[in-house]
Amino acid sequence: MKDVPNLFGSMVFNDAVMQARLPKDIYKALKKTMTEGTHLELDVANVVANAMKDWAVEKGATHYTHWFQPMTGVTAEKHDSFISPQKDGRVIMEFSGKELIKGEPDASSFPSGGLRATFEARGYTVWDLTSYAFIKDGTLYIPTAFCSYSGEALDKKTPLLRSMEALDKQAMRILRLFGNKDAKRVITTVGPEQEYFLIDKEVYLKRPDLIYTGRTLFGARPPKGQEMEDHYFGNIKPRVAAFMKELEEELWKLGVPAKTKHNEVAPAQHELAPVFGTTNIATDHNQLTMELLKSIANKHGLTCLLHEKPFAGVNGSGKHNNWSISTDTGVNLLEPGDTPYENAQFLLFLVAVIKAVDEYQDLLRVSVASAGNDHRLGANEAPPAIVSMFLGDELTQLLEAIENGTAYQGKEKHQMEIGVTVLPHFPKDTTDRNRTSPFAFTGNKFEFRMLGSAFSIAGPNIVLNTAVAEVLREFADVLENSEDFKGDLTKLIQKTISEHKRIIFNGNNYSEEWVQEAKRRGLSNLKTTVDALPAFVSQKSIDLFTRHHVFTETEIHSRYEILLENYSKTLHIEALTMIDMVKKGIIPACVSYQNEELQLLNSKKACGSSFDCTLEEQLVDKLSRLSSRLVKKLEELENTLLESKSQSDALSVARFYRDKVFVAMSELRLIVDELETVVAKKYWPYPTYAEILYSV
Ligand code: ADP
Ligand code: MG
Repeated sequence: MKDVPNLFGSMVFNDAVMQARLPKDIYKALKKTMTEGTHLELDVANVVANAMKDWAVEKGATHYTHWFQPMTGVTAEKHDSFISPQKDGRVIMEFSGKELIKGEPDASSFPSGGLRATFEARGYTVWDLTSYAFIKDGTLYIPTAFCSYSGEALDKKTPLLRSMEALDKQAMRILRLFGNKDAKRVITTVGPEQEYFLIDKEVYLKRPDLIYTGRTLFGARPPKGQEMEDHYFGNIKPRVAAFMKELEEELWKLGVPAKTKHNEVAPAQHELAPVFGTTNIATDHNQLTMELLKSIANKHGLTCLLHEKPFAGVNGSGKHNNWSISTDTGVNLLEPGDTPYENAQFLLFLVAVIKAVDEYQDLLRVSVASAGNDHRLGANEAPPAIVSMFLGDELTQLLEAIENGTAYQGKEKHQMEIGVTVLPHFPKDTTDRNRTSPFAFTGNKFEFRMLGSAFSIAGPNIVLNTAVAEVLREFADVLENSEDFKGDLTKLIQKTISEHKRIIFNGNNYSEEWVQEAKRRGLSNLKTTVDALPAFVSQKSIDLFTRHHVFTETEIHSRYEILLENYSKTLHIEALTMIDMVKKGIIPACVSYQNEELQLLNSKKACGSSFDCTLEEQLVDKLSRLSSRLVKKLEELENTLLESKSQSDALSVARFYRDKVFVAMSELRLIVDELETVVAKKYWPYPTYAEILYSV
């Protein structure tokens, strides 16, 4: 085994490297810029850039890139080499402060949702000093934010950083009210658990649907799926283990603290979780993790599927966003405390999150909406599309007691007086038993479980941070003007519980009763992406994001357009892929098999009358009937696609895709899946579910 502590972060220009390689005053100036967000002077940047380049070249790098996170959901990079030609025909390796701080990629080919008129195609990238530079595949990567020349964010990092600032500002107001003098900053922390499928690459390459859309568009149920429940935490096969080992090593080199790995519920499904970190760094790390999952799988003759639902009827993949709030001194503000004061503070932050999730449930739903995730949310396997919170029975009873001013009956009876008594200890392991909740309190953090596996975690955290910042702002406004802090604090906590407890649900979120109950409580149930997205452009959403300078109104509208377009485009590509597979693969298979059976039938009949031809006749009959229906449904899908062009605005187009195209696709799939069970194996053009799921 390699020396892990030495391996870890060996490709990262981290604090230790900076301290070792930068002159003291430069290091100090850089740190100041990092912690206080002040402007980085060019002379400082020049020294840093040069040190970075020397370090990178020593490690074999020849290029640098401004690495950014456009609205495509994947990262983007353009590589420039360090070479600088000299008069004598040779080159030297150079990297300036200007090149480090700012890049100017052509922005015109990234989604902007109409933000950037074509005449103003320029965008620029700026170094995010809070995220370390690193070397991957011979290139120095500089994590950057991506903006248009007029200053609008074109990426996911900029608004995420803004949302963290918003939360910092409001949470600090609260901490000051509680007399906290140590903390200089409040950050949010995230640990994302990443699910994925791993299949054999040869098999993958035989499925155009997997190649073009990331999911299977056809496929009859395999004889064995996940019903034996023998895969979860099962022992890891050697080929997968070798892949995981290399993946971990590469992640560690890049400073990604990969910690946990195991098999998941479905065959071929696995999970990876890191140790949590600051939200924007955890976001960068999760993007890197998704990239490496794919590239390293490839090296092992495997393919990693990050789609939320690669296989119908088999568990999909999600991402659990474990989230908490912490001071820069490392105090977790969602950890119940040991003193009455800490407890009061904990309760205030707790009810702030409860209120934020209730008030902005629609926006949280928006933040996890995509065509891929529509196959999971509400599909009886993942959390439903209804946002609710799990607190566990003990904590829920405690909040009830506080609300009503009654005694809390834990192990012993306990009169709760906020700011005076200590919270009774509620056992952590009784929290979160059922795991069906979309948003669960797990002892000292919340776990937001609605994210799809392919998501950037930026979006959900932008909403979460901003919503909580807004509630903390409201709380601080009340309490800063209070003349009776303890009394008003108690009232505020009681009022918040009473007004927002409808969002708390500790039962089985997958049950039909919950859907009815949630309706009675007035909670939203936005079943599809198209149902959810309009909430993003509501006045409430615009007020929230503009107040905290996370998005401008223009940015919201542009993102809304991008999300809608993305949904429609995804379905469009899926429909085209289906049509292509049916025409080029499925129909020829049906024809060949029918032909074979017909020939046999004819030969038998030509031989004389004594043979029984039931089998051939039934087969040919069934194939003919299914083939006719196939052609009809194929035509319907093609016509529906043509019709989609008559829709005008992005929302109507998306609705059309959901109501018409998706339905036509499902009907076509039904027939193909039935055909798959009839047509002989040697004619069927694509690997079956069983062949894919058990390919490794
Ligand atoms: P599980 O959800 O499977 O029970 P754990 O509770 O151990 O697993 O943790 C899951 C994830 O939560 C890990 O990535 C872990 O680092 C992260 N986590 C733990 N504490 C925090 C925190 N304070 N803030 C954010 N994430 C956290
Ligand atoms: Mg978890």
